[in-house]
Amino acid sequence: KLENATAKAELGRATWKLFHTMMARFPDNPSPDDSLALKTYIQLFARLYPCGDCARHFQKLLAQYPPQVSSRNAAAAWACFVHNQVNERLKKPLFNCNDIGDFYDCGCGEEDSKKGP
Ligand code: FAD
Repeated sequence: KLENATAKAELGRATWKLFHTMMARFPDNPSPDDSLALKTYIQLFARLYPCGDCARHFQKLLAQYPPQVSSRNAAAAWACFVHNQVNERLKKPLFNCNDIGDFYDCGCGEEDSKKGP
């Protein structure tokens, strides 16, 4: 089957949105189990991402820049950085990671921290 650049780009945009929004909701002070869950998620994500070429490149990025899972800020900054590495390879404009602040809002409002994520 022919490659479809439009579908590939759409999948990328949807995926990055989820990826960064997940980082923006990761705990400020994660438990060791939270951190392990995020790290495992990212590794499996890189393995299972449906665009095979993208997945291969992303796995190499992970090997070079291991996921930072010690806090929300660390995770969000790391995700912004690796997305910029992909942007650079695809010759896209870079995102200013200092501006990431409230850019990714899940729309879930304030939730009771005792009720989980
Ligand atoms: P996207 O890169 O999809 O970004 C969407 C929006 O996110 C931008 O408009 C901007 O508002 C914001 N944004 C941009 N940079 C950042 C950042 N650093 N941090 C936070 N927010 C940001 N496509 C290929 O053709 N080849 C590949 O090898 C490839 N590998 C990929 C690997 C992964 C893991 C993913 C998720 C996608 C990959 N893609 C690849 C798709 C590609 O990255 C883009 O998603 C797609 O080309 C659409 O680009 P876009 O210009 O709409 O912006």
